[in-house]
Amino acid sequence: MNWRDRGLCLREDPDLFFPIGTINSAQVAIQTDEAKAVCRHCPVTEQCLAWAVDAGPIEGIWGGTTEGERRAMRRREVCRPAETESAA
Ligand code: SF4
Repeated sequence: MNWRDRGLCLREDPDLFFPIGTINSAQVAIQTDEAKAVCRHCPVTEQCLAWAVDAGPIEGIWGGTTEGERRAMRRREVCRPAETESAA
């Protein structure tokens, strides 16, 4: 079984996870919080977040994060100093 088949979002309105500009910023924030609340209880949050970070820029709430939050995670990953080879 694929991790996607176990996501709690399958039981929700898919639009909840894609807050967009047709609504005002306060409504986007509320919708984002509601989607994140679902993700917090999801059994596959780690897999979902890892997939979304690896996938690159994608819209929507995945693994309890917004694309902006994932972009920051990717930047931190790129900026992280390489493991020292002398550590072995
Ligand atoms: S973490 Fe959120 S977006 Fe990912 S599968 Fe679970 S409910 Fe869906």
